[in-house]
Amino acid sequence: MDSVGVAAAAPDAGPGPAWQSKCPWGAPSTTSISCSLADVMSEQLAKELQLEEEKAAFPEVVAAAEGPFITGENIDTSSDLMLAQMLQMEFDKEYDAQLRREEKKINGDSKVSISFENYRKVHPYDSDSSEDEVDWQDTRHDPYRADKPTTTPKRGFIGKGKDITTKHDEVVCGRKNTARMENFAPEFQVGDGIGMDLKLSNQVFNALKQHAYSEERRSARLHEKKEHSTAEKAVDPRTRLLLYKMVNSGMLETITGCISTGKESVVFHAYGGKSATEDKVIPPECAIKVFKTTLNEFKNRDKYIKDDYRFKDRFSKLNPRKIIRLWAEKEMHNLTRMQNAGIPCPQVVILKKHVLVMSFIGQDQVPAPKLKDVTLSNEDMKKAYYQILNMMQQLYRECNLVHADLSEYNMLWHDGKIWLIDVSQSVEPTHPHGLEFLFRDCRNVSQFFQKGGVAEALNERELFNAVSGLNITADNEVDFQAEIEALEKINEDHVQNHGKKLSTFSSDGDPPIYDE
Ligand code: ADP
Ligand code: MN
Repeated sequence: MDSVGVAAAAPDAGPGPAWQSKCPWGAPSTTSISCSLADVMSEQLAKELQLEEEKAAFPEVVAAAEGPFITGENIDTSSDLMLAQMLQMEFDKEYDAQLRREEKKINGDSKVSISFENYRKVHPYDSDSSEDEVDWQDTRHDPYRADKPTTTPKRGFIGKGKDITTKHDEVVCGRKNTARMENFAPEFQVGDGIGMDLKLSNQVFNALKQHAYSEERRSARLHEKKEHSTAEKAVDPRTRLLLYKMVNSGMLETITGCISTGKESVVFHAYGGKSATEDKVIPPECAIKVFKTTLNEFKNRDKYIKDDYRFKDRFSKLNPRKIIRLWAEKEMHNLTRMQNAGIPCPQVVILKKHVLVMSFIGQDQVPAPKLKDVTLSNEDMKKAYYQILNMMQQLYRECNLVHADLSEYNMLWHDGKIWLIDVSQSVEPTHPHGLEFLFRDCRNVSQFFQKGGVAEALNERELFNAVSGLNITADNEVDFQAEIEALEKINEDHVQNHGKKLSTFSSDGDPPIYDE
């Protein structure tokens, strides 16, 4: 199954497919048909793909592995990195499909088969194949650091001189060539060739070498990208497809770029387009939050969602991909509640899988600064404090929510007021840890404003009571915390015994605004 074949099995000459030029096993006579990025981006190819696409109706639910989605008549593919990547991705996929067909054709029923594995464009880490059934990344395994192929010891190879001398004995030279394959980048899979008495002709070796070098460069580029852009990881082909479709449908005008890459999400800015339905208005500027998570991260966070009774029944049955979607869904629901209560926050535009589109807080592509990054006048600082106090109360009482990650990092300053963002982890106060989360929020807020010179700012315990309407009297942090946990316990016991939550936490026992 590994590449053990030799050049004899060359495919038919003639107007061959693009891969031939890159395939060292291929017929040497074949005129080189390159497949550089320049080609991929060529107008002609784009048109061809477009034509092809136009022939096929655009299916509603599209399997990611299927045909190109190059339909945008007005899309400026040359200026948009994302779309360029889409195009590249589709091209790579086509290329690989073609490669697979050729591989099959050549091998037929033959016992010795040739593998074109090394010439595939879609590599495991950027593939969109079915094994890629999860869109999180497990950080324990770095897909970029491929395992060193297990090769058998070298056979009399003296490792210097890159050039091939053609004057040597063909057999010896062939063996040397084979051995030299070990010098290729470790990621470059040379199969079992090294361990065998395989004699590579200079021509084949040179072609292989060329391929190995370009692969190395390519892999280095990917590495670099990975280092510098977490976005690359979150925006897997599937996500790109989703984004692409949003632009394609006209819902978004353009996706201009990335505003933030965090551990759990990547946020993009986009200009809004037109809605398919009359009643819905797309904001002129949108923020697109793409949820991602590492396996570890997801483990850290699952307490927020697992114990949220709204999601309880569903949680256990879900795979990681679906859980990521739940985060997005949660953020959407929570934002909607907040919107209904009149709390300044992004307005939900649409949720597609793990991608949440909302209104952009900021202007002309410049996001509103986080509270931690603005210097407010004393007056504004005081105003901001009373505003957040008010919002926390509204959040608790009207939305029946605790933010659970409230700090100067998740408050934006825009239009002379605070906007709350990042509510995917927000929970209801009766969540088993809801009050602890609230206390932590209070501590953050209280410390920030006290340090910021707001003399009126309540301390964390006073703030907690003011928000929750509870009257915990402990005058030190430890006791206070203990009382909070005792309350949570009472509630949990009640759930165990009566199967429902106490309403003690909400001060007036109002039904939740949003019913699931
Ligand atoms: P994370 O979980 O990665 O912290 P956030 O929702 O806090 O996700 O978003 C990360 C950053 O992206 C924010 O700090 C903010 O700067 C920016 N951002 C998120 N949503 C918006 C929005 N609707 N408008 C403007 N900027 C936003
Ligand atoms: Mn955040």
